[in-house]
Amino acid sequence: MNPRTPLKAEAFVLRTLDYGDSDRIVTFLTDEFGKVRGIAKGARKSRKRFANALEPFSRVRILFSRRSRDSLALIEASDPVDHHEALRGDLEKTLLASCVVDLADHFSVEGKRNDALYGLVRDFLRLLDREPALTEDHLRFYEIRLLKASGFEPVLDRCTACRCEAGSGAWRFDPRQGGIRCGACGTGDPDAVAVTAGTLKTLLLGKDVELERIGRISFTRQAAEESRVLTACFIRHLLGREIKSLQVLRAVRRLEG
Ligand SMILES: [Zn+2]
Repeated sequence: MNPRTPLKAEAFVLRTLDYGDSDRIVTFLTDEFGKVRGIAKGARKSRKRFANALEPFSRVRILFSRRSRDSLALIEASDPVDHHEALRGDLEKTLLASCVVDLADHFSVEGKRNDALYGLVRDFLRLLDREPALTEDHLRFYEIRLLKASGFEPVLDRCTACRCEAGSGAWRFDPRQGGIRCGACGTGDPDAVAVTAGTLKTLLLGKDVELERIGRISFTRQAAEESRVLTACFIRHLLGREIKSLQVLRAVRRLEG
């Protein structure tokens, strides 16, 4: 392939970083090429070439060229498809959308196409944009689906040791096993977290129901808290680090009291 041949893709802006006086380094999640990192020369000066189309969670069409799969691409143009205005006008939604793209950034691979992951990001942002009932709790369903799309689906319906079904009672989620353990089997993992059968049911429901309908699922206080701790513990285990946007969301919650 001629390295100069420009490639076209539809993409979401995951992250941007100002570079030098006028350039911007942008990380995209593309439909065909997985994650693509590129430099948009003069992006902060040329409103014409990049018209508003290099902001996080914008859906865009890009034209880019690169020497190899893992080299920094040259972003030649970026045209907006959906700027997600409704999201930007609402602080709560902006925070949630930031978590959506931040998580997608951590779980996507440069140069590796992942249709399920791309479709999930597209559909979840669209839903967040127009569904007023969506809250932080529903982000847990995004996380579970994202884990599945990237090959890390947690086992939440049965014990990973004895295979008994999670019908009732108290369980523990073991991040190293990537699933739950019943009370009888237990877990030796000090990082395992407690989870009740009710919470597991809520998570399983939100994992499988049509995405359009997740806003109708409500969480008890306990389910919301246990779910948050469970996915956070698993994601931390997989990545070996915290997700910044999730920490920001936590900090804002604490300020709200
Ligand atoms: Zn068991």
